[in-house]
Amino acid sequence: FSNYTPRVAIVTGAAQGIGYAIAQKLADDGIDVAVNDIISKQTQIGSVVEELRKKGRHAIAIPGDVSNEQEVISMIEKTMVANAGIAAIGAFLETSGETFDRIYSVNVRGVFFCFKQAALQMIKQGRGGRLIGLLLAILLVLCIEFAAIKLQARTQNLTAYSAAKFAVRGLTQTASIELRRHGITANSYAPGYIRTPLGATSDGVDDNCATVRKLFGAPDAPVAEADTVASIVSYLVKPEAYFINGQCISVDGGLRYD
Ligand code: NAD
Repeated sequence: FSNYTPRVAIVTGAAQGIGYAIAQKLADDGIDVAVNDIISKQTQIGSVVEELRKKGRHAIAIPGDVSNEQEVISMIEKTMVANAGIAAIGAFLETSGETFDRIYSVNVRGVFFCFKQAALQMIKQGRGGRLIGLLLAILLVLCIEFAAIKLQARTQNLTAYSAAKFAVRGLTQTASIELRRHGITANSYAPGYIRTPLGATSDGVDDNCATVRKLFGAPDAPVAEADTVASIVSYLVKPEAYFINGQCISVDGGLRYD
């Protein structure tokens, strides 16, 4: 499977932020892309699909919730790349069980369903694949899993989020061992502070992650643009990355969380 070449990717959470940048980069690399995000972002999804088509790529919209397995099955049938995620900020002692469950559902169940259904599809196709905690490919050929991880330990006010992202790391490492015999690699990446709507203030103002960095106790932490992360994903799906498996790649400018 060392000559595995990606043809199609599904990118989840691609209406904005890191997922959007990944979709653009993969299209620039000549990969057809299925664009996922939640149903309420249908208009944004449509705009992204139009942008990718203008680049000469085949692109389709596959709206759906990654924490719902039936919706993921339907998305995979059409294509797939996973990157969707949500964060909840709050002090440990004030984090409710409901908040913990909601964060876990999207960040962990979402990755689990995407990886599982994508791997089943890849095995059926018999061409191997790439799961990258963030995306997965479609039609049948490539699948990058999906799992943004970082902002973990050493970050205050993110207990539920931190627990969920560490779970994704473990899920990815173990899946990589079981899937390698099928020519499928599974890796994840752990971004530091990336300038996206997720890092904006609660009223949507882009303040270069200043508010969240302060809240998380790292006011001087470096900040990067989303296309920095997209470049790493772009490399992980390339044929020459076939020997990178089960890794969690830090993309954080040297900021250490663990
Ligand atoms: P973002 O909020 O800008 O974009 C995430 C997208 O995922 C949104 O469009 C959202 O609608 C979508 N989404 C949320 N729940 C979904 C679901 N259930 N099904 C489908 N789509 C869903 O965030 P981002 O900054 O681009 O982050 C992308 C990933 O990277 C997330 O997993 C996030 O936790 C992780 N991450 C981001 C940073 C950062 O600094 N921005 C740092 C570390 C990790």
